[in-house]
This record gives sequence, structure tokens and C-alpha cells, in this order.
Amino acid sequence: NLSSTIQLANGVAMPRLGLGVWKAEEGKEAAQAVQWAIETGYQLIDTAAVYKNEKSVGEGIRAAGVPREELFITTKVWNDEQGYDSTLAAMDASLARLGLDYVDLYLIHWPVAGKYKETWRAMEKIYKDGKAKAIGVSNFHAHHLEDIMADAEIMPMVNQVELHPHLTQEPLREFCAKHNIVVEAWSPLGQGQLLTNDVLTTIGNKYGKTAAQVILRWDVQHNIVTIPKSVNQGRIKENASIFDFELTEEEMQLIDGLNQNARFGSDPDNFD
Ligand code: NAD
Repeated sequence: NLSSTIQLANGVAMPRLGLGVWKAEEGKEAAQAVQWAIETGYQLIDTAAVYKNEKSVGEGIRAAGVPREELFITTKVWNDEQGYDSTLAAMDASLARLGLDYVDLYLIHWPVAGKYKETWRAMEKIYKDGKAKAIGVSNFHAHHLEDIMADAEIMPMVNQVELHPHLTQEPLREFCAKHNIVVEAWSPLGQGQLLTNDVLTTIGNKYGKTAAQVILRWDVQHNIVTIPKSVNQGRIKENASIFDFELTEEEMQLIDGLNQNARFGSDPDNFD
């Protein structure tokens, strides 16, 4: 069910499904979506400083009225705030906007060259100070992870990357599994553009499920944490209804076979 979790390297339980809020507008739209999601039973909310909606995420959390310890809130340090002191300050600013005294997961949003190792030292400090219950990275290739792990005291617990049936990321998933790093999928629905795929809709028809639900179920069965975005109450509910069916091994492989190594977003070796 929706409170089904996966254990991070430090023992923290991370929900397997969450709500992404990139492009959910600050104000009523974001606050309402977060409230609906939590009322539906979502525990994980994924935001970022650069989404400019942390304040509304906080409002949605409070409006839902669920005890803080039942929620799992993620935010991220943006590229222009990387570095040691600036990351510490960015965490405090995010907490203030969210109206929280800790987040469950704090991530380095992108591997800014020449900066991300210093940023990681700040992440370790934030973790030790209890301002984040877990720390990790986003958009890191294996070589970025190796670079951090060479000097880290605390290893990254999560790597949030673009991942969907057109970009299945098998080598990176294998690397992360070996290093006890949980993989989290961003743009799991290909930003909505994979939902007319025949393979996905055909599999969905068998179970009375949509293509979106088939993809999210495929994530869960691969032990990938997934954070589809929607601000529509019906879709928020639809995306959560994935714990009452199971894809066969053959169907899992059919979906794996849709891989094209094709990105909707930037390559972490080449972004601004
Ligand atoms: P997504 O793959 O979740 O797709 C979202 C789109 O699909 C929206 O336009 C929505 O209207 C549509 N949609 C959602 N559910 C649907 C349904 N059931 N039926 C039909 N359409 C549906 O795309 P995303 O927002 O890019 O990614 C999800 C989250 O991942 C983001 O909100 C954000 O939290 C995170 N993210 C992180 C990074 C990063 O760099 N770390 C980058 C992009 C996104």
C-alpha cells in the first residue's frame, strides 16, 4: 500500500511512491495538490528550492493535518547555492520556507563541477545536525558518485535521476544497488509523454489500469522510488492506486525492452 517503504542505508524508511511538485505553482495550486496527496495517503512529497513552491508545500502539509513523523519531505539545494557555507544557508532557508525544523531527505540537485564535493561536506554537517534525516544526490552519474564516495564520511543514501521506460538506467541502477544507494525516478511518466505507448496501454488493459499506473508499478517492482507529478485530484488518486496488482516477469521485461536511452531532461555531464 501507500505506506510501503524501502530502507535507506542508515535505516530510515523511505516511501516507495510520492508526489512530485515541479511546476506546481506557488500558492493555491501547489498547496492544494500537496493536501490532496496527503489526504489520499501519500507520505512522500518531492520539492526543491528552485521550484519556488516550498512555502505552499508547507501550507499543504499543515492543511492536511497529518502528524509530521508520518510524512517524508524532500527538498534540494540549487546549483547557484552550492559550496559549503552557501549550502548550509540554503538548507536553513528551505526549512524556513517549508515551516519545518527538519526534512527527511536533502539532495544536491545537480553535480555542479568543482563544487559538489564541498557541497557534500555541508550535506554531512546538515545530517549530523539533524536537519535532514537522510542525505543524497540527484542527477549523478556513477563517476560523480565515485568521486564523492572517495572522500565522503557519510555515503549518499539516494540518487534521484531521470528514469522511465525510455531511459531505464540499468547500469546506474546496478552501480547504486552495489553501493546501497536507493534510486529514485524523476519524470517517471516521461513528463506525460509515454502514456499513449501501446505496450503500456495493452498491459494496463489486462488489469484495468492506465499506462501511468503500469509505469509506476514497474518502478515499484524494480525497487525504484517514484514521484509522479500531478496537481489534479483524480490523477493524484489514480497514480497511488498501484498496490493492488502485480506485473508478471514477462511484462516487466517487455517494459524494460522499451529503453531507448532517451532523455527529456539534461544529461548530468552537460547542463547549465
Ligand atoms: P512526470 O513524469 O511525473 O509527468 C508529469 C506530467 O504527467 C504532468 O504534466 C501531469 O499532468 C501528467 N500526468 C501525471 N499523472 C497522470 C496521469 N495519471 N494520467 C495522465 N497524465 C498524467 O514529470 P515530472 O514532473 O517532470 O517529474 C516528476 C517529479 O520529479 C517532479 O515533479 C519533480 O518533483 C521531480 N523532478 C526532479 C528533477 C531533478 O532534477 N531532480 C527533474 C525533473 C523532475
